[in-house]
Amino acid sequence: MIPLILTLFIMTTEPATKTFTLEPLPYGYRELEPEISEETLRYHHDKHTAAYVNKLNELIAGTPYADMTLEEIIEKSDGAVFNNAAQAWNHNFYFATLSPKPKTAPEGELLDAVVARYGSLDNLKARMNSAATSLFGSGWVWLAADKDGNLEIMSGSNADNPLRHGLCPLLGIDVWEHAYYIDYRNARADAVQALWERIDWSKAEERYRNR
Ligand code: MN
Repeated sequence: MIPLILTLFIMTTEPATKTFTLEPLPYGYRELEPEISEETLRYHHDKHTAAYVNKLNELIAGTPYADMTLEEIIEKSDGAVFNNAAQAWNHNFYFATLSPKPKTAPEGELLDAVVARYGSLDNLKARMNSAATSLFGSGWVWLAADKDGNLEIMSGSNADNPLRHGLCPLLGIDVWEHAYYIDYRNARADAVQALWERIDWSKAEERYRNR
């Protein structure tokens, strides 16, 4: 009897455990073609991103992280928990930034900030392309803003992101090989150049307004 009672006690006092779920893609698998193929999305979203979410759930079960938001975990964790939490967040953000019908240039206060810092949108893109091709190994290139609205291009290895550095992310370019190898093989520069055709600046404008 004692083991049964113990088991019941453990079950009823176990803290509620949050489970993160894979966010569905906000568009169809073929809707980003030809820049990003259905096959890439099926691997990148359904396999790579799902693996980060599943691994995160496994790692945080029964720990204080289980009661935190994804953003809180990113701020407070290290090692494998941070890597999987940040990659889950980064990918949701990345897929939400792309669109079948993107707004291909910013307007208003974000355009003003781009021109003030980089001279022109083309120059900003060139700077981010250069950051993407020169980043060694896996990582991300971000456009981020500080509280005052100043823009910054940030290169980060592996899962690093602007939230970790107190900045507001506006755009993120995934330069892990899994993001482009099916469609572009080793040509990272071509993959990043093509990605601009799918980046929806209305998302960046909204994030800039709410920073
Ligand atoms: Mn990725």
